[in-house]
Amino acid sequence: MAVIELNNLNFSYDNKNNILKNIDLKIEEGEIFGLIGPSGAGKTTIIKLLTGQLYSKDNVKVFNDIPKGKLFYEQIGFVMDSIGLYERLTCYENLKIMSMIHNVNVLNIMEKLEMVGLKDDANKAVYKLSSGMRQRLLIARGILHSPRILFLDEPTRGLDPATAKDIQEIFLKIKDEGTTIFLTSHNMQEVENICDSVGFLFNGELVECGKINAIKEKYEMNKRVSFIDDEGVKSEYDIKKDKKELIDAIKSNNSFYINSETVSLEDIFIKLKRSGVNAS
Ligand code: ADP
Repeated sequence: MAVIELNNLNFSYDNKNNILKNIDLKIEEGEIFGLIGPSGAGKTTIIKLLTGQLYSKDNVKVFNDIPKGKLFYEQIGFVMDSIGLYERLTCYENLKIMSMIHNVNVLNIMEKLEMVGLKDDANKAVYKLSSGMRQRLLIARGILHSPRILFLDEPTRGLDPATAKDIQEIFLKIKDEGTTIFLTSHNMQEVENICDSVGFLFNGELVECGKINAIKEKYEMNKRVSFIDDEGVKSEYDIKKDKKELIDAIKSNNSFYINSETVSLEDIFIKLKRSGVNAS
């Protein structure tokens, strides 16, 4: 079942320049979707539309309805840069305030702190937390009420690779509990590691979107392999078009070396950017 649907979405902040152009997108319940794009492409604008912070007639549907109202906010959580924490209060106290707002049982607090790896820091004041710990706390706050969808805007931006990896593991745990995750990222490796589906957004246009495996297969079509023959001479072959030549080369050499790397999301991103996509 699709929990997020954008149908031919156009959006402009000033009624003149379209920031988002003809966007069609469907996200299935239970998956992790990653939206990749350069700065200014429109990723945050999409999250704001999906979380009811911006409004656009009826082209935006979450749970098959316009994203607004109490019931909607009970079912979503979001982690965005702009949302602050109470610095002098502890992790536990910050979540306690949130539990009162969401009318959530306080017993959930320790469970969520444990889930994000902050159980032993429950009584630490926020101003004493590292940036990775702050991010963990923001995630705990976002999932305190066990939302059906969690929205994350650049959730690992500015974190060191080891901390980013730990945070990615938390997202996989959240997914295991049945939560759908929508995240934006600059980090293609992150999307490749944890997402089921991906969208590439360039200058407000969703130029490629779908299951990661299917997209990779599509771009694998023109994949080249390097072949080094028994005299050390290197040749390149298109894995589909030059299949016969490649087989001939294998047959006519006693020893050879073949190097074929699988296509990564980064390769696809670069290819899309170079291939005349209206990149920002
Ligand atoms: P991203 O998240 O991909 O970096 P944004 O959604 O933040 O992109 O921004 C997309 C475009 O919309 C940018 O050109 C940005 O300057 C513009 N923009 C963002 N917020 C506003 C706003 N409140 N008013 C006018 N323009 C905005």
